[in-house]
Amino acid sequence: MNIKKSNRLASLPPYLFKEIDRQKEEVRQRGVDVIDLGVGDPDLPTPIHIIEALNQAALNHQNHRYPSYSGMDEFNQAVARWYKRRFNVNLDAEKEVITLIGSKEGIAHIPLAFINPGDWALVPSPCYPVYPTGVQFAGGNPYFMDLLKENDFLPDLDAVPVEMAKNAKLMFLNYPNNPTSAIAKREFFKNVVSFAKSNNIIVCHDAAYTEMAFDGYQPISFLEAEGASGVGIEFHSLSKTYNMTGWRLGFAVGRPEIIEGLGGIKSNIDSGAFQAIQIAGIAALEGDQTCVQNMNKKYQERRNILVDGVIDLGLSVKKPKATFYIWIEVPDGYTSAAFTTHLLTKGGIVVTPGNGFGSAGEGYVRMALTVGKERLKEVIERIRAIGF
Ligand SMILES: *Cc1c(COP(=O)(O)O)cnc(C)c1O
Repeated sequence: MNIKKSNRLASLPPYLFKEIDRQKEEVRQRGVDVIDLGVGDPDLPTPIHIIEALNQAALNHQNHRYPSYSGMDEFNQAVARWYKRRFNVNLDAEKEVITLIGSKEGIAHIPLAFINPGDWALVPSPCYPVYPTGVQFAGGNPYFMDLLKENDFLPDLDAVPVEMAKNAKLMFLNYPNNPTSAIAKREFFKNVVSFAKSNNIIVCHDAAYTEMAFDGYQPISFLEAEGASGVGIEFHSLSKTYNMTGWRLGFAVGRPEIIEGLGGIKSNIDSGAFQAIQIAGIAALEGDQTCVQNMNKKYQERRNILVDGVIDLGLSVKKPKATFYIWIEVPDGYTSAAFTTHLLTKGGIVVTPGNGFGSAGEGYVRMALTVGKERLKEVIERIRAIGF
């Protein structure tokens, strides 16, 4: 029998991190002590009170059955309370909140609810690869809005051709941003709301990093902007805030019809997140938030070591106010791929080439602050030793 992949699968580039894993393995096989700053996966453990909540909930057989498709009422209510506390945004837990099996799941599925084959969606470049892939899986086409240094890595909405703006059904945004670590101010979100309103575009804001911030900076929610809850939804995740990437728990909040559309797709694909994990999620959202402060303190120290070191090496980088990513301009004479290969093969350092996040990421590499301070100092020393 002949096994042939669908066009939708065959036409995808290899998943970025899969390719990096392969290269990393090759170098490791040579006996090199590899330092991995590639994938944005926290190295810190989930706080203990959250693990204890899971342990208890896992023992209760009531939690072993199929959960509700849209999430437990208690979890959705905890999300609504958290939004009120954290952003002063009011949400109706029943209509404006949906539980996700990690936010990647919801991000990948939302285009299926609102994109018809041939439709367009506005997607930033560089970006989290799931945005364009999700659009393509739904038969749609991504129109890339370049995030440029001269615009502080915000998309220039005025640069979107009028016809494209009129045609686009949906738009992805993400601030604090992966991979550029840029942040958005309220003014920008206001412009997004009026752009979306006048062009009838559903805004999907990915807010995975609002809790990972430094120097006292508090990122805002898209829903804080006036009128935002009329035009869009926001995706959130417990993955980065509470070091829970492996647990798979996230949520989306915002305009009821959009949440309902996402739920309509999901109820035909999955059967919700394990209840014991949702109960642990409630413990995370409602419990002591000192763990978040401690985490940020750690990342801030790491950021200072890596950014100061990289600047000392003569590379160009801006000290991020949020996220655990450092977005570094590659030195003269290198492409993103060439610099990535140089760091990996000569220095045993894994970074992510900026162009892997979209063509406008060319000229950059991304480093993730997912190793300890001593290892970061070693990164600087290794780059100093191999040169560029
Ligand atoms: C890590 C990350 C997420 C979170 O994904 P989960 O599926 O919730 O683990 C979402 N968006 C971006 C941009 C991320 O970097």
